Parts: sequence; structure tokens; C-alpha cells
Amino acid sequence: MGPELAGLHVRAASAQGLDHGVDERLGDRAGSGCMPGGPAALPGVTVKRELADYQQRGVQLGARLLIVQETQVPQLLRQSIGFFRGVVMRDADQDEQARALDLAHGPAADLDARFGHPLYNCAHAGHSAEGSRRSRDRVQGMATASTMITLAPTGAETVKADAPALPVTLEELVKTAKAAQAAGAALIHVHIRDEKYEPTLDLGRLKETVAALREETDLIVQLSTGGAVTDPYEDRLRVLDALPDSCSLTCGTVNFGHDVFMNPWPFMVELYQKTQELEVVPEFELFDLGHIAALHRLLDEYGLPYGGKIHCDLVMGVPGGMPGDARTLVAAVQALPEGASWSATGIGRTTLPVMLAALSVGGHLRVGMEDTLTYAKGEPVRDNLQLVERAAKLATLAQRPPMPIEEARAMLAVKERRPGKVGPVHGSRRSGQGP
Ligand SMILES: [Zn+2]
Repeated sequence: MGPELAGLHVRAASAQGLDHGVDERLGDRAGSGCMPGGPAALPGVTVKRELADYQQRGVQLGARLLIVQETQVPQLLRQSIGFFRGVVMRDADQDEQARALDLAHGPAADLDARFGHPLYNCAHAGHSAEGSRRSRDRVQGMATASTMITLAPTGAETVKADAPALPVTLEELVKTAKAAQAAGAALIHVHIRDEKYEPTLDLGRLKETVAALREETDLIVQLSTGGAVTDPYEDRLRVLDALPDSCSLTCGTVNFGHDVFMNPWPFMVELYQKTQELEVVPEFELFDLGHIAALHRLLDEYGLPYGGKIHCDLVMGVPGGMPGDARTLVAAVQALPEGASWSATGIGRTTLPVMLAALSVGGHLRVGMEDTLTYAKGEPVRDNLQLVERAAKLATLAQRPPMPIEEARAMLAVKERRPGKVGPVHGSRRSGQGP
């Protein structure tokens, strides 16, 4: 620890002491101020770190204070050190809540119920040894039913000139989506481009895109709220006004190659509450294990998403995020909230290891030119369809063929917004959840 940290009060945890926490006092508390030596945030954004018993931050947009984080230890740190010892602390109320949630989740969510794990010991889904056994039974019995395939065809990083098959116009996107649906995809994760093929979050274009995809396909339409790493928070929040079926919600900041993809806690909270308000199902995008801790905290403090189901996407192999290998995938999956469904994608050369590992652990798949441009060594991707077809083939070989779209819609509990269709009514289940 360098002298620039003098005055900070840091709460740390270790394998030996997670249940108690280990306080390191590095001098007197020094009031509040900007983190010394901290990185500059996006233009106009100041991240303040106050020096309370636990970190307290405020994030400002210009002069406007977005949200001040409460001084509170995240739920994840309340539990025992069961991650290492296999000890679960619980009480009868939590157990009852778990049963209620199990019933509420229904069979679709049960498809992905996973092994009991003490990291799940959070208020949003009280976990228990009995719950763990039930989960194991379900995993053995049902997790291998089918595989939801998500296509992420475009992203914000690749230049059209470098990958001519990248869909950047609405026409190209719709054509890609139709072919993907025919090949077994159920969900499309959308970034759009402007007339110069540059990434944009223009609301008019987003609405037009959502409408066209709904008109021409049955795919679940998910808009990225990440945009490009330089997009301002206001624009990223406004994406939801296009009323997609689903949106990505990234659960933390991450180094992204040479860039920083900013997702401070107050922004996550504002975005999450807006999804609940507008009845859009978030897909929790997780680049790192710490993001999973943030997801637990979000659910503990703000309740379940619209529809009551939790769906995550592990994005692995980003330089700066978690590596794209099997052991990291297993660690991440074990830490997810109980009952959550999840997809995984590996960036670049981690695509295949992550895909194969995900299939073996009962996960769903995300593929597409957003994540990989190389099909095999020395062989560029032909187009998005090639990637969907490979995923469908591998899933079928694994005895978990592509999931029909209607089943995927039920698993995620998306609101029916297709013209002329009437779907089940999902509650937001906000009340009574969390402390
Ligand atoms: Zn994306």
C-alpha cells in the first residue's frame, strides 16, 4: 500500500476471515474527497469516495448528484465463510421465502437451478441445505433440456470495413435476425449504427429497429444499454424508452482493452429501477466475479426484476475481465443467484472453450460477430449465421438442442409486446423483496 492511501479505512476480507471481515486502519479517517490517484472518469463525471466504515461513493453527472450510496456493507459479506467451508447460515423465514420463490419461478426457471452454494445466502432467495438438494435434483433431472441461443450480431467495436458481413443497416440486421431464427436462435442482442455505420443510441432509430425486428421475427429483442464505451449515462438510460423485450444491464465497471466500460453503482441502480418501471427484463451482464457480488446486492436492495426471473450473461475473455476458461466459468456459475438462468460467451479465441464449458454445465449460449470474428485458426467468420449454426449443432450434439422461442420467452418472463399477440401477465414482484 503506497502512502497515497494514508487516511483510508479499508475493509478487506480473506479466506480465513470473510465472516468477520478484516479491518485495516491505514491512519486516521480523513473526511471525504476524491480518491487520491484514482482514474479520471468519463468527462463530466466525478466519482467521490467517502471514508466511512464502508466505502461511500457519490456519482455526479455534471453538477447533478445521481445517487449517494448508503453506508452499508453489501449483503454478500454478511454470510459465513461457507464459500470455503461449505457452511450455510439460515433461518426459518428465509427457508419459507425460498419455497415461495421456487413456486413463483416455475418449471422454466428450474431448468437452470444449480447447486446450492453458500454465496447464494442472500435475502433475495433464502438458501438452505434442503434447497441445495432440491437444486441438485433439478439439475440432474432437467437442466439438459434445451439451449437458448442468443445472437449478438454487431456490437459497437468492429468497423464495417474490417468485417463486411457485419450487419450495420436495419435491412442487414433484419435479414440476419430472420436467418438466425431459422437456425435456432431465440434472442437477439442489438447494438445499432448510424448512417455512417458508427455506433449510436439514437432513440428514433432504436424504436424503428425494435419495431422491425418484432414485425419480421419472433425473436426476443434485447437492446444493449452499454452502447459504446464513450456513450453518456443519460443516453444509455434512454435506450429503455424504445421498450425492448429485454436489455443488458452490466453489473460493474470493467477495463475493456485500452478503454474503461463505466457502470458505477448509482447508474446500475437507476437503470435497474427503470427496467422495473417499464417492464423490461434485464439481462445481467457479468464481466467479472465482482460483478456477481454487485448483482446479489442489487437484488437484495431493489428486489427481483420485472417478471420475477433472473437471467445472466457471462461475458468472458475480455482483456480486463474474467478469463474465458472452464474453471472460471464454473466459479462464476456457482456464485450466481439460485434459480437464475444464464448464458455465456467467450470473446475472441475463448469462444469455443466457453461454449463447450457452458454446454457441459447446463448454461445457454451467446454467439455472434460482436464477440468473435474468427471461426477457426486463420479463418475469418463468414457471417453471423455460421456462428448460430455452429452453436445449434454443438448444443444438439450435447443433447440440449436449441430452445424454441416461446420457451425462451417463458424462461425470461418477457412481456408480450408483439402486435396481435397476448401473453401471460408477469408481476414485477418488487414488493416484499429485499430488506
Ligand atoms: Zn453488446
